[in-house]
Amino acid sequence: MKIRSTFTLLIFAAISIAANAQNKVKNVIFMIGDGMGLSQAYAAQTHKGEQLTLFQFPYVGLVSTYSANNYITDSAAAGTAISSGVKTNNGIIGITPDSLHHTVSVMEIAKQKGLATGIGVTCTVTHATPAAYYAHQINRGMNEEIASDLLLSNIDICIGGGRNYFEDRTDKKNLSNLLRERGYDVVYNLEEATNTSNKRIIGLLADGELPTISENRGNMLPQTTGLILNKLDKDNKNGFFVMIEGSQIDWGGHANNEQYIINETIDFDNAVKIAVDFAKKDGNTLVIVTADHETGGMTLAGGNIENKIVDSKFSTGNHTATPVPVYTFGPGAENFTGYFDNTEFKDKIIHLLDLESKRR
Ligand SMILES: [Zn+2]
Repeated sequence: MKIRSTFTLLIFAAISIAANAQNKVKNVIFMIGDGMGLSQAYAAQTHKGEQLTLFQFPYVGLVSTYSANNYITDSAAAGTAISSGVKTNNGIIGITPDSLHHTVSVMEIAKQKGLATGIGVTCTVTHATPAAYYAHQINRGMNEEIASDLLLSNIDICIGGGRNYFEDRTDKKNLSNLLRERGYDVVYNLEEATNTSNKRIIGLLADGELPTISENRGNMLPQTTGLILNKLDKDNKNGFFVMIEGSQIDWGGHANNEQYIINETIDFDNAVKIAVDFAKKDGNTLVIVTADHETGGMTLAGGNIENKIVDSKFSTGNHTATPVPVYTFGPGAENFTGYFDNTEFKDKIIHLLDLESKRR
């Protein structure tokens, strides 16, 4: 009996080691709800009347967000910390606070190591958060220079707004044509992006910023998420790193507009559902959902679950210093629990994707 149970234990140990070995992280989907603190997410859930997908994630942690020069970060410094593991000053994209060195983002390393890369956002593709993954500029407002950096990034797919920064520039260059020369399809709607067999796509869906949900953005973010994952998964030998941002949750926060925040958060959560469904099917995909900071100092001062209403109060029209939640799903998800700093994401992901080794 004793020998038999020891033997059984050994079998179980062998099986679980084998299972762990199988569930290596091949793909990472990093999803940022800009300005999405706990109140924003819970307000969206209350209004929706059912559990958000991100609240169904098995692992939750807390992330500190302060920047190199301020207790309260902006999206440029937070994006740089999250993507590159380096704290910089507010307003700086991918450069150290002394302005001397370019930082290196997890997306840039993934590209060097042969992984496919993608970005999908509901702002311009040159906005601070996406820019932090591929650009190096001393000021986040330098949209045309950031667009030029995208040309050099070798990214596979990038979809958002900001067509004017590529085609209506002070230097008279047409970056869309230059991108086409480099083998990209530059498209202006999601239908064209879906229909092309090209895996290198720059989607510029608006001249400037994209509309809000309550205007006419529709299903753009969930659709973009599905499109990027499906395209990059084809012949996907080396895996991919994808960043998806619900960019306008932050804008609702700045406006202290509860309904704007709720609409944008539900939309973002719909994109999270697309990512999780992909990850469940795939088995080797890690989904990380977090925020770069909280916006608005949003407090749920009252509400009613049955009536699906919340009574939001805001303490500021700016960002706050409150740490933000991180929700994770998939292999390696247990590495993002507890309290940690936003500079720690990069190394955790590099380790899980095994990007330290020279070749994959
Ligand atoms: Zn903001």
